[in-house]
Amino acid sequence: MKNLKEDYFSPFFSHIYVEKAVLEHARTRRILAEFPSATVIEIDHYKDVFCRSRQSIRFQRRAQNLILAAKQGTLLYEGAPVCQSFGNRYFYYVSCAMNCIYDCAYCYLKGMYPSANIVVFVNLEDIFAQVRQVLEQHPLYLCVSYDTDLPALERIIGYVREWCDFAANHENLKIEIRTKCASKTFVRNTRPVSAVIYAFTLSPQAVIDAFEHHTPSLTQRLSCAAELIRAGCPVRLCFDPMIYVPDWQQHYEAMLEEVFRAIPMEKIVDVSVGTFRISQDYLKNMRRQEPESLVIWFPYQKEGGYCHYPDALMEEMECFLSGRLEEKISREKIFRWNV
Ligand code: SF4
Repeated sequence: MKNLKEDYFSPFFSHIYVEKAVLEHARTRRILAEFPSATVIEIDHYKDVFCRSRQSIRFQRRAQNLILAAKQGTLLYEGAPVCQSFGNRYFYYVSCAMNCIYDCAYCYLKGMYPSANIVVFVNLEDIFAQVRQVLEQHPLYLCVSYDTDLPALERIIGYVREWCDFAANHENLKIEIRTKCASKTFVRNTRPVSAVIYAFTLSPQAVIDAFEHHTPSLTQRLSCAAELIRAGCPVRLCFDPMIYVPDWQQHYEAMLEEVFRAIPMEKIVDVSVGTFRISQDYLKNMRRQEPESLVIWFPYQKEGGYCHYPDALMEEMECFLSGRLEEKISREKIFRWNV
C-alpha cells in the first residue's frame, strides 16, 4: 500500500460524516480504514451536512470534510447542453462523487453545490444496476468524472478501477473519465480497457498557475497521458475550458508546442476545444463567494441562460486552437462544443 500513496495529492479529512444506513457498507469500511485518526460522525442524510444554510465554501475549501452516503432516486442524468457529446447519441453522466480535491477558480461545482465538502456515494452497485437497465434499451456514452475528479480520489475510493471492471464486462458502453490528475501510481495501476477513455484537461501553465490551484502541472499531465497511451489506454485531450488571460495566444501556442512534443497525436482518440462557459445561475453563486476573482468577474456575454466570452473572442480563441490542432490531427477528431 505504501507505493499507492506516493504521488497523489493526498487530502486529509479530520472529520468524516457517514450516513447511518451505509455505516457497514464494504466501501464505507474500506474508505474509513484510510483515515484511522479521523473523527467519524453518524448522520441521517448527507444533505443534513452538505446543504446546511450559511456555509462558507471558501473556508471549507481550506479544510474539506468527507461525507459517505447512499445515492437515491435518479442515478443517471442526460448530458447538459454545455457539455460535449463527442458525436455520441446517448450521452449521459453519473455523479458517484460530488466536489473535488482540486480548487480551480472557474469550477462550476462552486456554483452548483452549497458546500465544498466531498460526498462519495458508496452504493456504486445501484448505479451499475441502473446503467445495466439502460444498456438493455440502447448503447451508452457515460461520463463518470464530471462532478469530481475520480482519478484524484482513486487512492481513497478506487472507483476508476471499479468502472473499468464494469466497462470491460458490458458491451455498448463507452466511459469517459475526465481528469487533471497526473499520478504515476494511478497510471501504473491502470489496466487498458478499450471502452474507457481517459480525458485529460490541459491548460497553459500560466492558466494553471493562476486558476487551477493544487492541480498537477501541464508537464505532469502530459507525461501521464503519454504513459497511458503507451500502456494502450484510449486517451482524449480536452482543451476545454480555454481561459482568457492577457497574451492568451502566446500561452496557448507554448502549451501546444509542449503537447506536440510529449504526445503522439496520431494515437489519441480525439480532442475537444471549448472556451469557458457556465450556467448564469452558477456564475451568480460564484460571484457571491469570490468578489475579486478575475475569471469569475469577466464581463461574459449572456445567452439562453448561459454565460460565455463575447462571440468574437470565443471564435478567435477556439479557431486559433482548432486551426493549430488541424496541423496534427484530422478535423473529424476535433470537437468544438458550440458547433
Ligand atoms: S479539476 Fe475539475 S472538478 Fe476539480 S476543481 Fe478543477 S474544474 Fe473542478
